[in-house]
Amino acid sequence: MLSTLTIISIFTEIFAAGIMLGGGIGFLKQYFVARKNKDAILGFIFVNFFVYVAATIVSQMMFNSGFDLSQRIFVHKGIYLSLAVSAFLFWVFLIERFELKKLRLTNVVVALLSGWFIYCIAQSPVSLIYREGVSESIVSFASYLPLKPFFSLIVFALVVAAFLSALKNKQGQRVLAFYLAASAGLLLLALLFSYYYLCLAQASCLMLSWLCVLLSFVGFLLSELIPPTAPEAEHPLSFFRTRMLFKLILIFVLLVVILFETTTLATINISKQALSKSIFSGYSQMASNLAFNVRKLPAEQLPAGLQQLAQESRVGSGGLAYFVNDKGELIAHPDKKRALQRESMLANEAVRQILAGRAGNGQFKDELGDWVVGAYLPLKGIGGMVVQEPLFSAYAELRRLETNSLLFVIMGIILTSLVGIFFAHSIERPIKELIQGTEALACGNLKARVTVDSLDEMGKLAKAFNSMTKDLCESQERLVLSEKLASLGTMAAGMAHEIKNPLVSVRTFTQVLEQKWEDPEYRKKFSAIVPHEIERINRIAGSLLKFGRPMKPELSRVDLNTLLDEVLLLFESECKKNNVRVTKNLTSLPKVKGDAGQLQQVLVNIVKNAIEAMGQSGGELIVKSDVGQVIRLGRMQREGRKVGEEMVWGEERALDKPIQVVFVEVTDTGEGIAEENLKSLFDPFFTTKMTGTGMGLPITLRIVEEHNGSIKVRSQRGKGTTFIITLPYD
Ligand code: ADP
Repeated sequence: MLSTLTIISIFTEIFAAGIMLGGGIGFLKQYFVARKNKDAILGFIFVNFFVYVAATIVSQMMFNSGFDLSQRIFVHKGIYLSLAVSAFLFWVFLIERFELKKLRLTNVVVALLSGWFIYCIAQSPVSLIYREGVSESIVSFASYLPLKPFFSLIVFALVVAAFLSALKNKQGQRVLAFYLAASAGLLLLALLFSYYYLCLAQASCLMLSWLCVLLSFVGFLLSELIPPTAPEAEHPLSFFRTRMLFKLILIFVLLVVILFETTTLATINISKQALSKSIFSGYSQMASNLAFNVRKLPAEQLPAGLQQLAQESRVGSGGLAYFVNDKGELIAHPDKKRALQRESMLANEAVRQILAGRAGNGQFKDELGDWVVGAYLPLKGIGGMVVQEPLFSAYAELRRLETNSLLFVIMGIILTSLVGIFFAHSIERPIKELIQGTEALACGNLKARVTVDSLDEMGKLAKAFNSMTKDLCESQERLVLSEKLASLGTMAAGMAHEIKNPLVSVRTFTQVLEQKWEDPEYRKKFSAIVPHEIERINRIAGSLLKFGRPMKPELSRVDLNTLLDEVLLLFESECKKNNVRVTKNLTSLPKVKGDAGQLQQVLVNIVKNAIEAMGQSGGELIVKSDVGQVIRLGRMQREGRKVGEEMVWGEERALDKPIQVVFVEVTDTGEGIAEENLKSLFDPFFTTKMTGTGMGLPITLRIVEEHNGSIKVRSQRGKGTTFIITLPYD
């Protein structure tokens, strides 16, 4: 018969197994995304422990269903094999997580020891020992295998390494390392409880052991799944609140487990009571049948007749019947020798009841102190008789019944959990897609679309989202055009002027061509100036044409210095008009792979803004270009922050390895950017100008990001602004 605590332990095991399997799949999935060895190792640890727990449940079920020892040995070997593999995997994890690759000798020792354990487990003959109160058999190998101490030692090493790393680190990393140390510590505690369970046969120890395993693996999940830089790293438990999926699965699975657990416990207990009552009355029936036979015996045949009855009686599969006299001594027993020796049975609870003149049935302790089930009956003139059977065989049927109902419940839990997880996923997936869509939109990607085709509210929301982004996209395209037209407008006036100057000189030269053609001095000047001026007109017209072209990306190798020259040429007269002095500080640059037209637009937007920021009073426009290496680049946090006197926009992320980049810096000595404006600088439609569109910088950012580059802005109120564009090259 299984105790209530044992049944609860089995449920905890199932829960732990679910977390291990889910966690294992999660880590393996993460490995395929981020390709970190640590994730693959953890994935295998989780899956391996799942095998351990699943095999333990199977072994318990097989034992309770009365499977043969030889059939169960295979499963028990599986349990021990997975423990040996886990020990090895934990060591590999320790080495990988804390970068201890220098411990070469220890690595070899651990690998050899694990291999040896695996070999011994596979080879060694095993015997299974059953102890009352322990719900599965204890494994005894032919020779002692210190596998559990070995496993504990490795887990202890993990506790120490994680603890030391927690002391060394700060913030999120520290908290996560503490969680890791605590999780490994809980695993050690689980081992301790399971040891006590085997020694004391207390179901509460078993339950505590599984509870520790469960909490330990939840801890491993949190400490290793949360990135150390994530905001949840400092409060790992809040991680569960960040994902809708966790909440849904947790609510669903917990509800299912609690519901199943309580109803199963209740039904099992009710049927157990009814069944045990009928088992007990079965023994009473047996006792009264025997008493009837005793009464039929003639007085002179009594001792021999009783002995025969004791020997012939069949009580269950492992029970017996015996007779005692009124002093509590054996007078007939299947083991004849014991009856001949008149062994005293006063230590047997049933015999003491007989001597007190009471008949009854139930569970009592025999003369050796072991629990048995049976019935007892005082017999007039003889003393009394007892029929008894050990708990193990007496409750075999009951246990089989419990196991069968538990199996149904386990299947039910697994099935409903799978259905729950499926539904939770189907609810979370569209939400996740919508979030990704809105995030992409917030980052300026108006091409973002959500592919949710369900007919429910989510599907409708997705449709509305898609049509909204489509509208936005169209209006943005119109705005881009108007932004371009605005830039063209600014440039056009100056350019007319720019084109006029060379045209005048060309005209003057050609007007006197006929008269002065014979003059060598004139011819020299003509051939030096006219082609140069025509080339200048050609370049201006070419740049203007390039700028006016629609934004269709065309990849080529672009020299940013040439682009800068062209842009500055376009703005030359604008600069002159506004008293802007241009200083060029260009370094020869490698060519960048990109779209020349788009990159030109980036420079036009930034130079135009710089000139406008200096207003009528003018100032200095410094344009620099350079090459170098960076270890930080890319996606930026979209908010400004104060660094000393300056406001800085653009927080780059660290790269795995340094990459080659070119820099273009445009500095003006204009009005600078107000602190409160810095965070919205790149937001679409943000403008502080009367005639501004607010689209110049968002377009600039999008183009630069599409070229895998980044933009940084430094600004000081009243002193000026610098835009730094970083673009990678091969
Ligand atoms: P627009 O130029 O049409 O206003 P932008 O997106 O190009 O749109 O610029 C947005 C805002 O950013 C400008 O209105 C201005 O307030 C600010 N800004 C951009 N560049 C500079 C600069 N160099 N100095 C000061 N403010 C700037």
